[in-house]
Amino acid sequence: MTTNEPVALSFRDNVDLMVDHAIRIMGLEEGMGNALKACNTVLQVSFPVEIDGKPEMFTGWRAVHSDHRLPSKGGIRYAPEVNQEEVEALAALMTYKCAIVDVPYGGSKGGLCIDPRKYTRSQLESITRRFARELANKGFLSPAKNVPAPDMGTGQREMGWMADTYRQLFPDDINYIGCVTGKPVGYGGVRGRNEATGRGVQYAMREYFRHFDVVKEAGLTPGLGGKRIIIQGLGNVGYHAALFLSTEDNCLITAVIERDGALINPDGLNIHDVHEHMIEHGGVKGFPGAKYVEDGASVLEHDCDILIPAALEGVIHGDNAEGIKAKLVVEAANGPITYEADAILQKRGVEIIPDAYCNAGGVIVSYFEWIRNLAHVRFGRIEKRFHETRGAHIISAIELATNTPVPDWVRKEIVRGADEFDLVRSGLDDTMRLAFQEMVEVRRTNHQVRDLRMAAYVIAIEKISRSYLDIGY
Ligand code: NAD
Repeated sequence: MTTNEPVALSFRDNVDLMVDHAIRIMGLEEGMGNALKACNTVLQVSFPVEIDGKPEMFTGWRAVHSDHRLPSKGGIRYAPEVNQEEVEALAALMTYKCAIVDVPYGGSKGGLCIDPRKYTRSQLESITRRFARELANKGFLSPAKNVPAPDMGTGQREMGWMADTYRQLFPDDINYIGCVTGKPVGYGGVRGRNEATGRGVQYAMREYFRHFDVVKEAGLTPGLGGKRIIIQGLGNVGYHAALFLSTEDNCLITAVIERDGALINPDGLNIHDVHEHMIEHGGVKGFPGAKYVEDGASVLEHDCDILIPAALEGVIHGDNAEGIKAKLVVEAANGPITYEADAILQKRGVEIIPDAYCNAGGVIVSYFEWIRNLAHVRFGRIEKRFHETRGAHIISAIELATNTPVPDWVRKEIVRGADEFDLVRSGLDDTMRLAFQEMVEVRRTNHQVRDLRMAAYVIAIEKISRSYLDIGY
């Protein structure tokens, strides 16, 4: 039977179309373009785990899009709708993301087809440990070659189980703890990793608002403070981004869109309270002090200054892109805007901070965690006391020279040596700022590049193709 229904593009098609566009702008030869886009390897595993006394089958994937740098890096997602194409698209995004923010990794991604909410903690532990064994035995989990991290549906707990499974399999590997990142701090994790992606989104937005000309061109008023924000998804990324933006930058989170509907409050929602409510009740419905709307997706089109999709891919598409009111869309999730919607938003002058840059905070801090694991020492451990003593000497010298006591708050700031949290946040902030400046510069100087997404891809493709030319494919 034939039909005239348009064929919906997959997530992978959408990513490839955006990359093709960048390749055309750069005039890259076809062979190089194909080498860049190809996904090197995909592993599919199916395995049984005993659930309530009966074997149940699970299927998962780990895709390695590139290994021009090793290890290849990328999260593992637990979701019922996960599939090979999605994992391949996410692995490709990881390649570009790492290149944009100068993290020396190849791109990879994993997924397990499962609804984690349907299983107990101990069942999830058995499933995760078995999945980790499958990956490790086939060379897809290792501190040298392939290092997973959390993504949708996974977190510190799952990463801890994976690291421990790897340790049991390879007890002679002195760097075993670096086989995954995003682990609990007590088990090889780094302080600041859990919040890193949301924190990176905040740093990206702060940097955006430091560029007055760019802000003005998008039709926004200067300053992040007071901006009305709608956020979709209050999970790891969305919760931290919304919490920091509302409590540290005075933004108003006027709507939160979740799985079971949306909450609206023009005066701004208390994100901590909404999150507590979600933990207690499993959704946003019933939260006091806000209007509840059952059709959450419709709220994407409500009036606001900034829209932050932080849940899943393809939520802004050909059918709703015309209705988006935000002047700035911040892609905290991976692939929330389809290729078609991207073109519509561009035409309407809506600025987009692209996913490949915007949510790179996770991999940046994962990189710090991996370095910490290979060095076997916590950041700041060696030099903290030295800096504190030096700070105290500087204060004494100032007081001696001026004959005036230094105010307590200044003393505290100067004397305090940086701990791991400070160093991680500082490294993250610096990386996000530099990468944004690079994107703005490319858009300013290359007249074929009109938007930040193309700027990000041009930067990434230039770096990756250079490395292919240097060392071969
Ligand atoms: P998460 O599982 O912690 O949170 C996802 C949230 O989205 C949950 O609160 C869930 O209830 C909500 N959600 C699910 N379906 C929804 C729907 N239809 N409408 C509204 N809300 C819905 O996942 P996360 O780790 O926060 O990841 C979110 C996005 O960020 C994903 O695209 C992921 O790939 C991307 N990302 C995550 C990280 C990371 O470090 N966790 C890093 C980079 C990118």
